[in-house]
Parts: sequence; C-alpha cells; structure tokens
Amino acid sequence: MATEVVMPQMGESIAEGTITKWLVKEGDEVERDQPLFEISTDKVDAEIPSPASGVLLEIKREEGDTVPVDDVVAVIGEEGEEPSEAEESAAPEAEEKEAQEEAEEPEEESEEETEEEAEKEEDEREEAEEEEEEYDYDLVILGSGPGGYVAGIRAGQLGLKVAVVEKDPRFGGTCLLRGCIPTKALLYTAELMDRFRKSKEFGIRASEVSLDISKAHEHKRKVVDKNARGVEFLFKKNDVQGIHGFGKLVGPHEIEVEKDGEIERVTAKNILLATGSVPREIPVAETDGETILNSDHVLELERIPSSMIVVGAGAVGTEFASLYRSFGSEVQIVEMLPRLLPAEDEEVSAELARSFKKRGITSHTDAKLTEVEETDAGVRVTLDEEGEEKTLEAEILLIAVGRAPVTGDLGFEEQGVEMEDGYIEVDEMMRTSTSHIYAIGDIVKGVPWLAHVASAMGIVAVEHMAGAETYALDYDRVPQVTFCDPEVASVGLSEAEAKERGYDVEVGKFPFTALGKAAIMGRTEGFVKVVRETKYDEVLGVHIIGAHATDLIAEACAALQLETTAEELFRTIHAHPTMAESVGEAAHASHGSAIHF
Ligand code: FAD
Repeated sequence: MATEVVMPQMGESIAEGTITKWLVKEGDEVERDQPLFEISTDKVDAEIPSPASGVLLEIKREEGDTVPVDDVVAVIGEEGEEPSEAEESAAPEAEEKEAQEEAEEPEEESEEETEEEAEKEEDEREEAEEEEEEYDYDLVILGSGPGGYVAGIRAGQLGLKVAVVEKDPRFGGTCLLRGCIPTKALLYTAELMDRFRKSKEFGIRASEVSLDISKAHEHKRKVVDKNARGVEFLFKKNDVQGIHGFGKLVGPHEIEVEKDGEIERVTAKNILLATGSVPREIPVAETDGETILNSDHVLELERIPSSMIVVGAGAVGTEFASLYRSFGSEVQIVEMLPRLLPAEDEEVSAELARSFKKRGITSHTDAKLTEVEETDAGVRVTLDEEGEEKTLEAEILLIAVGRAPVTGDLGFEEQGVEMEDGYIEVDEMMRTSTSHIYAIGDIVKGVPWLAHVASAMGIVAVEHMAGAETYALDYDRVPQVTFCDPEVASVGLSEAEAKERGYDVEVGKFPFTALGKAAIMGRTEGFVKVVRETKYDEVLGVHIIGAHATDLIAEACAALQLETTAEELFRTIHAHPTMAESVGEAAHASHGSAIHF
C-alpha cells in the first residue's frame, strides 16, 4: 500500500506551509526520514522528512504552492504501484502502534532461523563484553573547564563510565579558576563601590567609600573555592572519576597521565578533548607578570595601580578597564579595530565608548601597538593611531588580545586529529576527523570563546557518543555577554549582519531613560535594540547595553530559540516595573509603536 505525504503542522498556530524546494523527483528511491522537500511557514523554515521508504510515485504540489496542513503533497510506494492506492501518512501514532503490535506478535519462525538469531545475539553480546573489557572507560575527557566538567557530569547522567583528566590541582578550568567567576566576583565589588558612591541620591548617608583590595580578593577566592568544591561534589554525585595529572594522547584510545613523575595510562572507547585556551601573547609586548600582565596575572594583583593601559577592547579588555576604573586607576584602552567590543552591534559600541568617556576611560581605536619600553614608573607604549604616532605611559600594561588554543604537543595530530592554526575542526556532533575523538570549547575552530558554548558543545558530544537524542547547536543563538559598566549583552544578528545576509530589516530601540525601573535605580544609561525581518516579523537579534543587560538577554535567547516574532515578544506581558519591560518595548518600537517612548 502506498503512503501519502501530507503537509505537516509545524506549530499550534500554523495552518499552511509553502513548498520552497523539492529535494527529490518523481521516480526517485527514498528512505524513511530522508528529507523530501523544504517548506517555509510564518514561523519556521524546515526540511520535511519522508514518512516511509520506497519510490516517490507522484508529486502532487509544486514548488511555490502554499498547501494547507494535512493536504497531500506527494505519494510514496513500490515501483509500478498506483498512487491512488495510497494511505495517509498523517497518523504516525497509528503506524507506530501497528508496528509495535507486529513486533509483539510472535511470528512463526523456522527452527533454523531461531538458532541463527540466537547465535548472532550471543556473538553481539560477546563483542560488546569484549569491548567493555578492552577499555578502562567509555569516555575519558582531557581538561575540566566548563566544556570538560559539564561533559563529564552529562556522561555520568547517561550511565557512561567516565574519567576527567586535569593538570591543575582543582577542577573548573579557565572559567572557574582564572576567568568568568573570579572576574565577576571582583566586578561585583566594583559595582557595589560605584553604587555606594551614589548612595546620597537615594537618601543614604555613608562615609567615604574606599577599597580594601585584600578583602575583595578574599571574597573572590571564597567564591572560586565554593564553586570548585561544587564541581567535585557533582563528580561524586554522577560517578565521574577525576584524575589529576598532565594528559597526553598516546594512542587512538589511550591517554598517558603524568603526575609528580609517575605515569598512569588510561584507555577509553571515546575521547573528548577539552584542553581550552591560555592568554594570547604578542611579540611586541611579552608579558612578565610585573609591569606587562595578562588576565591571569592581573586577577592576582593585590594592589591598585595608579594607571593602566589595556590593549584589546574585547570582553576581557573592557571588563578589566571598567573594573580598574571603578577601583580608582587612570585607564586607557587601545583597540586595533575601529570600535570597542568590535563583535557587537555598532550602536552598542558607540554607546559604550560614550559611557567609558564619561567614566574617564580614554579609548584609542584604530590603534596598533608598535613599541613598548619599560620606564622607572612602568611602561611607555607607542601606538599607530589612525596613521598618527602616539605615546602613552602607565604603571601597568595589560595585554588582552584574545586566547590561544592549548593543542600543541599533546599527541592530537599524531592520532589523526586534523587541525588548522592550532584549532581543531569538528562536525555538528563535535567529532574530529578521527570519529571516536571529539573536541569542544576554546580549542575548536570558529566557535565563540565562551564558557556556555563549551558546556553546550560538551553536552552534544556526550549525548551523541551515548546514542542519546541530541541537537546540533545554532551558533547564531549564542548570547554574548560583557560585564563591564554599563553591561553589554546580545544574541543573534546585529543590524549590519542581518542586512548583509539579505534580510529586509526593521529595528526598534528603547532607551532606559524612558523606563520606570531604570529611573528608580538611577541607571538610565543604555538601551535595548531589537532587529527583526519584515517578511515573517521574526526576531533576528537583540542587543542590550545598560544595567542588568547580561540577565535581560535570557528572554531574547528564548525568543530566538522559539523563532518568536516581534509581535509575540511585545504581546508577552512583562511585569511592571522591571528592566525586562524594555525588551517588550523595543520589540514594539520595531513596529513603530513603543508605548513609553
Ligand atoms: P578551559 O576553561 O580553558 O579549560 C581547559 C582545562 O584543560 C584547564 O583546566 C586546563 O588546565 C586543562 N588542560 C589543558 N591541557 C591539559 C592537559 N594536557 N592535561 C590535563 N589538563 C589539561 N566566558 C563566558 O562565557 N563568560 C564570561 O564571563 C567569561 N569571562 C572570562 C574572563 C576571563 C578573564 C577569561 C580569560 C575568559 C572568560 N571567559 C568567559 C571565557 C571562558 O573562560 C572560556 O571560554 C572557557 O573557560 C572555555 O572552556 P574550555 O572548557 O574550552 O576550556
């Protein structure tokens, strides 16, 4: 009996879909689940998989046809079969039930067949047992950053026998020990200082605010320690074996771990590389930990320099510039590209530059560092700023020009893992060119250097190797967050990117000056910007600068994940008075009708 292929219902409110492309033609053999055609609805674009295997007997609706849900689009059957004999494919549950019933019905099998099957099953069981015996673990993870430790926990949840190898005495990686967590702990101290400096406005009389930097570091260390202990607890809870030592890939399934001169070898069916990154050095200003520092050094600096030059205006550079300005240093920031936070929407960069200027942070953009010399007071640097030579001086020079992947001399290439410029290439499921070796996080080519990206990649990799259901990541939906003051956060396409990709774009902006909650907090700097396309009204990007931007972005992430329209976003009822109202208002503004502006 032939099978009818019908227009599927892609969402509760979707009544029809337009066939944008046929991927097969009449007469083609197709497999069950093979994509047959592409559709576009007012919410989603999708490939529609075949409900059955067979020959495509008839295409009933052409490209460009808009077809109501459940209408027949094509017929699949056996070669030579009449399309009219088709039965509908719209009842997969019934089909599944039938299949289940069939499977449950004891078939009359010949004795020979039963014996053969039993032998086959026995062989398979033996093979599986041998495989289990062959390796110490189902999975060994090299590196325990937010990529590796999260992957370890997920592997434990899925019942894999898993070990995580870490060269540091503590688990947690850059993010927990030298990155996200300690910087945000210090930035929180800075934020409190700034709030207390303005306390008079709110009716609070406080004597002069001053910083006890040792106490600030103590708070930072406590937070880091608590989180590091949390990772150990989660390892125990999920049966993850932590192994301390320097790991190296020495065979396709084998990692050698060296600790205090002792060598241990562990084998695993699958290997996950998560060795992360270290601060990138530049030849013109090699760090010495004294006057020329990187992010690792500056996080341990227990004094406040009178002045600081920060090279690099990405997330790390702008956060430290902001932090030390709040702590009282004179700060100058140097960026080779034309604007601060060059990966953010242009209007956001411009707002940040204005804001930094107001706070007394001087920005040098389009500026290349050409020379650095040490002086009695610190450093003197020479810049080529928009073609002009400039000299700056400061007590400390902080180099924050990005991160370098940790992939050298670890045996990766020897085991067939292909690399480019030190980065590893992976497929959607995080497999390297050697299929049982996976890689995630900062060592992977072309993905953002962010903790939540490393973690999300780790989860996909582990679910894939465990045969569990998983999904490819959409890197367009990764939130970018910078915790400088004012905070910056975004998800999706900037206005310029959306235009570059050929979308017809409308933009809505809502300033915090018009928001009740922002006025209550005395934090009216910044705005929310929504970028939407005009055909389906889909939200393509949301860009926020201002107080609590890094929390506010969560709603935008959910909106993009659900392929929300701007109308759905502004019809979502936001509590009053909250900062979140600004997201709904910006969506409303993209339709020209923000209520409070
Ligand atoms: P890592 O966190 O670098 O972890 C790799 C681990 O592998 C390390 O523990 C390392 O010791 C271990 N390792 C390496 N080689 C070996 C070996 N041979 N044997 C055993 N172990 C080994 N991201 C955010 O999302 N939000 C933020 O706010 C944020 N702030 C940051 C602030 C700073 C100052 C910095 C530097 C980074 C920040 N990041 C932030 C980026 C984030 O820290 C990284 O993207 C993230 O840590 C990458 O995770 P990972 O698991 O790939 O690698």
